Amino acid sequence: QPALRLDGLVRAFHQGTRRIDVLKGASVDILPGQAVALVGPSGAGKSTLLHIAGLLETPDSGHVIVNGRDCSGMGDADRTRVRRVEMGFVYQFHQLLPEFSALENVMIPQLIRGRSKSQAAERARELLGTLGLAERLEHRPAQLSGGEQQRTAIARALANSPRLILADEPTGNLDPYTAEHVFEALLHLIHTTGVAALIATHNMDLARRMDRVLRLEGGALVEVQPLGLT
Ligand code: ADP
Ligand code: ADP
Repeated sequence: QPALRLDGLVRAFHQGTRRIDVLKGASVDILPGQAVALVGPSGAGKSTLLHIAGLLETPDSGHVIVNGRDCSGMGDADRTRVRRVEMGFVYQFHQLLPEFSALENVMIPQLIRGRSKSQAAERARELLGTLGLAERLEHRPAQLSGGEQQRTAIARALANSPRLILADEPTGNLDPYTAEHVFEALLHLIHTTGVAALIATHNMDLARRMDRVLRLEGGALVEVQPLGLT
């Protein structure tokens, strides 16, 4: 069963009298353990698609199905619960809480879910350790390098063992060398945990190394061969 099924998503925006058809029937199934790149030029609708998949926005028509459950008709409370329980988010800028340590930043979503402090700390330590941050647990975001901040954000996204990761340019703010290493760590976690991931990126070198590549083209998702990417 797909972790995420997008079925016929349609979304238009109105800017003054102008109507922009951003999504015109975007569909895809993403299976557990698949790292899927979302590519396309600026303005193609990648962020719009991620917002709809992440249940932050509703499409004009079409369905978002998470682990077999159609979220299209859900109210705000149910959407929030699906987001919290089934999804993890990684952004271009880490959005870590500045006054908390790396460990605490990874603990907080678990505490919100109702885990005990000791369980949350153990899980956070394990995840941060896997991401090479065992020596950085007590550092605050400002004391971490850009790559370390993004690794912490990845650990936070995975803290509650979601079925699906949605990421918008997760390495877009990093130099190429650091981006490469953070990306490798993310890819490794996707493949070892079996989480599904949809990752918007402009970086074709990284997209090429994912399991699948989807290009937003004329409002639809077109599967392209990773090795044929230019
Ligand atoms: P809709 O077509 O769904 O009614 P709105 O025009 O109400 O969309 O815009 C929703 C929000 O997005 C507004 O706060 C608006 O300022 C903002 N917005 C407008 N244009 C853009 C744009 N080109 N890119 C991103 N956000 C925009
Ligand atoms: P991408 O992430 O691929 O750059 P976006 O999803 O941000 O693309 O934007 C797709 C198109 O939709 C752009 O033309 C953008 O200006 C427009 N758009 C996005 N959000 C809004 C909004 N809230 N209101 C009006 N137009 C929007």
